[in-house]
Amino acid sequence: MANIQNNLQAIRQRIDNAALRCGRKPGEIRLVAVSKRIGLSAIEQANRAGQTIFGENYMQEAKEKIEQFQGTDAEWHFIGHIQSNKARDVAALIDMVHTVDRIKLAKALNRHAGEYNRKISVLVQVNVGEETQKAGILPGNAEELVRSLRDFPQLEVKGLMTMPPFKSNPEEVRPYFRILRKLAEDFSAKGLFRDSNRFELSMGMSGDFEVAVEEGATLVRVGTAIFGERPALSV
Ligand SMILES: *Cc1c(COP(=O)(O)O)cnc(C)c1O
Repeated sequence: MANIQNNLQAIRQRIDNAALRCGRKPGEIRLVAVSKRIGLSAIEQANRAGQTIFGENYMQEAKEKIEQFQGTDAEWHFIGHIQSNKARDVAALIDMVHTVDRIKLAKALNRHAGEYNRKISVLVQVNVGEETQKAGILPGNAEELVRSLRDFPQLEVKGLMTMPPFKSNPEEVRPYFRILRKLAEDFSAKGLFRDSNRFELSMGMSGDFEVAVEEGATLVRVGTAIFGERPALSV
C-alpha cells in the first residue's frame, strides 16, 4: 500500500524545487491528485493529508465519489473526454473542466450550468502533438474556440490544457509543453482569458511534471506517483 501522505509531500517538494529552479513562485502551482479508478479510502487519506483538488475522468465514477465528499473541502476537476449526454452531471458537480475541445460541448455545459445557477471554470484542451487519435483541438484552431467560449456566461475560460505525445524521456515532452505555453501567452496578450493578468496551464503528469513546471504549468495532474498503480480498466 502506497504511503499517500509521504508521496504527496515528496511530490509537493519536487514541484516547489522545480519552481524555484526557474524563478517561479511555488504557490503558483496547484497539484491535481488524479483519483480515477482509486477507491474512497485512498482519496480520504489524501484529503486528510491536506490535498483538496481531485481529478476524475469518468463521470459516473466521479459522481459517486463527489457525493461522499459533500461538506468537505474537496474540489473536483474533470480531466477526461466528455460525451455530450454527460454534460449535465459535469455542469452540476465539477468545479473545473480541463477538457473542453468543441463548441457543442461548451454550449451544453453552459446551458446546464445555467440550470444549476453555477459558474464553471474551463480550460481548452489542445492536441499539441497533432495526433489523430487524441482528443483536443488542433493548435491552429484553438484561438477561434477560445474566442467563441467568451459568449457563454456560465463558463469562465481560464487557460489551456494538454496531453502531449507519450515519451519515456520527459525532456522530449518539453517542446510540447512550450507550444502550449506560447499559445496561452498569445491568447492572454489578446485578452481572451477570464483574468487579464494570469492564466492556467494544465500540463504534466507523474513522469514529467517537473519539466511541465519549468515550462509554466499552473496545474499538474498526478495520479500514479501519489496513489500507486491504478487497477486496470475493467471491460
Ligand atoms: C490519468 C491521467 C493523468 C495522471 O496520470 P499519471 O501518469 O498516473 O500521473 C493525468 N492527466 C490525465 C488527462 C489523465 O487521464
